[in-house]
Amino acid sequence: MDSAHGRKYVLLNVLSIGSAFLLAVIVLGFEHWYAEKEGFVDDLAIQASMLGTNASAVLAFDDERAGREMVSIVAPSPSVVEAALYRQDGTLLAAFRRPGENGLGAKAPAPAIVFTGRHVVVAQTVAIEGQPVGTIVLRATLDSVYRSQMNFLASLLLIAAVAMLVGHFASRRLRWRMAEAERRLEHMALYDNVTGLANRHAFELALEQTVRRHQRDGSGSALLFIDVDGFKKVNDMLGHNIGDRVLRGIGERLRATLRAADVIARIGGDEFGAILVDAVSPGAAARIATNLIGAMAQPFSPGGTPVYVGLSIGIAMVPQDGTAAEDLLHHADLAMYHAKQMGKGNHQFFSDEIGDMVRRRLDIEADLRQAIAHGELYVVYQPQVATATGAIAGLEALVRWRHASRGIILPGEFIPVAEESGLIMEVGRVVLAQVCRDIAELRGQGLRVPVVAVNVSARQFMQGDVAAETAAALRDNGLRPADVEIELTESMLMERLEDRRAALAGLVDSGIRIAIDDFGTGYSSLNYLKRLPVDKLKIDMSFVRDLPDNAESVAIVVGIVGMAHAIGLRVVAEGVETQAQRDCLSACGCDLLQGYLTGRPMEKAALVALLRDAP
Ligand code: C2E
Ligand code: CA
Ligand code: CA
Repeated sequence: MDSAHGRKYVLLNVLSIGSAFLLAVIVLGFEHWYAEKEGFVDDLAIQASMLGTNASAVLAFDDERAGREMVSIVAPSPSVVEAALYRQDGTLLAAFRRPGENGLGAKAPAPAIVFTGRHVVVAQTVAIEGQPVGTIVLRATLDSVYRSQMNFLASLLLIAAVAMLVGHFASRRLRWRMAEAERRLEHMALYDNVTGLANRHAFELALEQTVRRHQRDGSGSALLFIDVDGFKKVNDMLGHNIGDRVLRGIGERLRATLRAADVIARIGGDEFGAILVDAVSPGAAARIATNLIGAMAQPFSPGGTPVYVGLSIGIAMVPQDGTAAEDLLHHADLAMYHAKQMGKGNHQFFSDEIGDMVRRRLDIEADLRQAIAHGELYVVYQPQVATATGAIAGLEALVRWRHASRGIILPGEFIPVAEESGLIMEVGRVVLAQVCRDIAELRGQGLRVPVVAVNVSARQFMQGDVAAETAAALRDNGLRPADVEIELTESMLMERLEDRRAALAGLVDSGIRIAIDDFGTGYSSLNYLKRLPVDKLKIDMSFVRDLPDNAESVAIVVGIVGMAHAIGLRVVAEGVETQAQRDCLSACGCDLLQGYLTGRPMEKAALVALLRDAP
């Protein structure tokens, strides 16, 4: 509120309250005036009639002396200034007059109540048994009524004045408070109170301005969507207090790295946004993004302990990647998401392909929860056959998603999403339960079902108690531990081996066997394998693909088989597609084969037929 506006407002306020008070004073004043006057005249009339009754005999006997005594009775009432008794013929019998008063004449006035200026005259007929014998007249000053009226008005005005004063100050205080609250809201509406930087709202306004500037003069700029890597961990492990201080530190470094003209804002929990106003080329934007990431290299030390964070940055160029603020922000966000997928700590530019990719991934994430609830996940089985005889020696369970509109989605697309969102635990439970139910059902049909391998991913193995859950699912369906096998990838087992050992031991204790998946892609040593409770190795299909012509692959397969057999493990070759590969693997001494050549992943009905026909 500006001050001219404020003064006008005060004046209006005072005027309106003042006129309301004035109206009240006028109405109340008139009412009081009439009530007082009426009361006064009534009293005077009663006094006159009492006096008249007493004076009737005096008039009847025409006793002047008694008449004078009679009228002087009014002397103690200060308002009455004259009292007079007139005979029936109208002549004066006796009168009482205060000094200086001479308002009543020698002749009797007609009976009435008459106001004359500041006086009132009450004239009444005096009668004895209905026979008039004369007239009594009282003349009184209205001074007391005026005085009372003055007092009344004065107190009314005083009250009104006090009320207005109080009202004025109260409203001034109120207005001051309102203005203060308004100022605070305005600040809150534009600034983030953790970092002191602009907030999302202010950032969006700035972005709109950038877009308008481009439309006006064709100037280009870059929009950076900056997400802090690993901030959730900082918050969870060190608390919000430290978290806020780290955010403040990040904000300061970002600000210090950018030029003064650039805009930097905190636009979400651990998200910042920057507008590089004169970054016309992607090269310049990339350089600045690299600098921003570099600015986080040194740790923060909010509570003494060093805290390391990184940044993932998505970049959208104005105008190439959009000319509406909303689109630009969305595109930079998608690019940032892609930067996260690319391993964090890097920057990515938005492109239509990246947009489609990320959007599909986000859609999958959004749909997956429903899919689990609606039973859209199901399991297919791929046989593992004995190299020597071709007999079915095992099955691998592979999950599928029958999506209502997208058709069948393969696990390669949604398992990573499930891992990231934590839904992998649910997916794992669904698969395990389905596998156990299927085994029990097929057994119930009199079929001989070999061991079924179930894939367990890293996140699943780390977060849940796989041994306990598997044991429970087996028990629920009346199965034994030897009926299933858990497949763990080699790379997953290589990471933090010591941490895994307890969970692995849990599996072994429950009698469930373990197979190492994608073997050969990680770092493996015989020593490492010996220390693990494993009984099957699955040679990754990247080696099988090159058989038999690639001598190096042949050498690797021979090596793996020899080493595995030496420590009592069986070897499965994955992705066997051709007879030549099969022959080669057979020559290498590989125990089992899995691949399109010997059987594609199939639904339960097909599996039933396959097992029924098996020798
Ligand atoms: P994986 O465990 O290495 O599974 C083998 C993959 O190779 C399967 O792909 C299978 O269909 C495919 N395959 C089999 N034979 C051949 C062949 O001859 N040639 C070629 N080119 N491919 C072949 P799929 O079913 O798409 O599964 C992909 C990955 O998804 C699996 O790789 C596994 O890591 C994961 N996965 C599948 N089901 C589950 C599950 O229930 N839970 C978890 N956590 N992961 C699963
Ligand atoms: Ca597998
Ligand atoms: Ca594999």
